[in-house]
Amino acid sequence: MPKGLENTSSGPTVFSDPQSKLVIEWAPAGHPTGEHVRFVPDHLMDDINLMRVINRGILKPIDEAAAREALRSGGESWSAAQTAQATAHLESIDNKTEDDMISVPCQGPGHPKDDPAASVIVKAGELSQAPPLCAHHTHLADNFEIVQTASGKRRWARKEAAGV
Ligand SMILES: [Zn+2]
Repeated sequence: MPKGLENTSSGPTVFSDPQSKLVIEWAPAGHPTGEHVRFVPDHLMDDINLMRVINRGILKPIDEAAAREALRSGGESWSAAQTAQATAHLESIDNKTEDDMISVPCQGPGHPKDDPAASVIVKAGELSQAPPLCAHHTHLADNFEIVQTASGKRRWARKEAAGV
């Protein structure tokens, strides 16, 4: 049975799993129709990045009865969570406020598919200052630049000449 997690922060919280391309978004705490409660598949409860968000108290596990109550009051089930390409998620930073915690894929090269270090949790406001890179790749930060896509959104991309 998927676990209910409640967002305790005053801003939206987003978790993405690069492997399954699952993106789960929590509305700010106290959302009137319960959208600050989301259900997370069992296999993701072991995800190190999700555990970090829980340990920081941003997402709080709630018991089954409370989870059902939230569902009845309008929350969606986890299966309704939208899926998106990891890069599309990055482009959504323009819609976030500075203090929103988001989990984004490391932009560094050569991450194995099942590497738990491949996701980085950052404040959305910091994402425009430095590319999301894991500890192994922070030294590559100078090789990245913010580019504007055709639709006018900003995203990090490797510089052409960097050769990384
Ligand atoms: Zn990395």
